Amino acid sequence: MKRRKFVQLSTASLLTTAAAPFSTAVSSKSGAPHLASIDQDIVVVGSGVFGLWSAFYMQQLGARVTLVDAYGPGNPRGSSGGESRIIRSEYGEQFMYTRMNNKAHDLWLKWEKQWGKPFIYSTGRLTLGDAKYRDEALKVKKDLEAFGVKGEVLGYDELKYRWPQINLEGIESGLYFSGGAGGSTVMARESCHAVADAFVKGGGKLVIGTGMPGKSSAGKMELADLGNGKALKADKYIFACGPWMAKVFPDLFAPRLKVYRREVYFVGSPSGDDRYAYPNFPVWLDGNMYGMPDLRGQGLKVAPFPDYNTIDPDTDERMVNPYITKKVHDYVNFRFPGLKNQPIVSTRVCQLTFSKDEHFIIDQHPDMSNVWFVCAGSGHGFKHGPALGDYVANRILNNKVEKDYDEAFKLK
Ligand SMILES: Cc1cc2nc3c(=O)[nH]c(=O)nc-3n(C[C@H](O)[C@H](O)[C@H](O)COP(=O)(O)OP(=O)(O)OC[C@H]3O[C@@H](n4cnc5c(N)ncnc54)[C@H](O)[C@@H]3O)c2cc1C
Repeated sequence: MKRRKFVQLSTASLLTTAAAPFSTAVSSKSGAPHLASIDQDIVVVGSGVFGLWSAFYMQQLGARVTLVDAYGPGNPRGSSGGESRIIRSEYGEQFMYTRMNNKAHDLWLKWEKQWGKPFIYSTGRLTLGDAKYRDEALKVKKDLEAFGVKGEVLGYDELKYRWPQINLEGIESGLYFSGGAGGSTVMARESCHAVADAFVKGGGKLVIGTGMPGKSSAGKMELADLGNGKALKADKYIFACGPWMAKVFPDLFAPRLKVYRREVYFVGSPSGDDRYAYPNFPVWLDGNMYGMPDLRGQGLKVAPFPDYNTIDPDTDERMVNPYITKKVHDYVNFRFPGLKNQPIVSTRVCQLTFSKDEHFIIDQHPDMSNVWFVCAGSGHGFKHGPALGDYVANRILNNKVEKDYDEAFKLK
């Protein structure tokens, strides 16, 4: 099959604009050699963490990939455009995600080394609980040892000794993973840009535009419509549109997905005080609050949850709610006395896209065999980026994948 051309598209002007923020070199390699050449043109719509890594790994398999995004990789409207995301192996009884996380962690480290762009911090991760939590912590610790992830169950005295900067009132026990796959942090927006950069350097095309399903015939989609009379033609189309999925395929996804807003706060430390900064402080979870240490001087991250208000990812402003702001101040004043009355130095408002069972959805369109969905991060998708991309690429192009994932990720 010959390399297909864009349909009705002013290729040169569109691609020049699209590739501008990233490296424009197309001849150099993105890092790894292509495993084999797969003679297919693929269009991926959506360059959040799911679309980016899917596109990147399909490119690694030798496919010719065009990535389309309405606002650009890691943009602030998307779920992947935040500052940082947690990496953790702990997934209750859902050990398929433990496996996926552990594989993803290895791949994050591999690619950050290869690209020379550090975006993983081995921060550690600490869950705080009352006396009753100890039994649960012991079970999680034992479960994860089977996956090579070692944790520690700590009592009050040990917690006080290691982190005297925490007020432990109401806390009796803790579960701590000192780093690695069990507890790390990935810089979200930065890593999205790194993948986009590698994708473009490897010859991938990045287009800024809104991709919608185009006309179909004989059970196949014929093109992705960019509006303004422009379209992209490919053998396969992957829609990885995160919280926008119900706008792109309303009949399929409006009943299946819920998009909730989440506020994130960064609290500054007093000048010269690094007690709440990496490596002196871990990722932490405390009831309905969690957060991350101050990384690169951005402040201690504090995220209250849950928040069941909905959000329109295109049009809603990202302004925080004064009641939640007060709750964050009250919590920080109580739990982290060294940050008492310190200012909130920045905020973010983002959205989580939940499927009903909180599994990702990675499946074919029921009526169009060349259309695939990769979505429903369900509040925990970011960490899996590279392992998910590897799975998607192999499932769509090769069909050699772990079969238990196929079942869990079905469009139910
Ligand atoms: C506050 C917060 C904290 C989180 N914490 C964690 C965490 O600690 N650990 C973790 O693993 N996960 C976490 N998550 C979840 C994780 O961030 C998401 O699961 C993940 O980012 C989802 O990525 P995505 O690619 O599916 O969606 P997105 O990142 O939203 O990407 C979708 C992209 O599609 C584009 N798009 C949409 N429609 C179109 C169209 N028609 N044409 C062209 N482009 C289009 C958008 O512009 C966007 O760039 C968190 C999420 C939030 C909001």
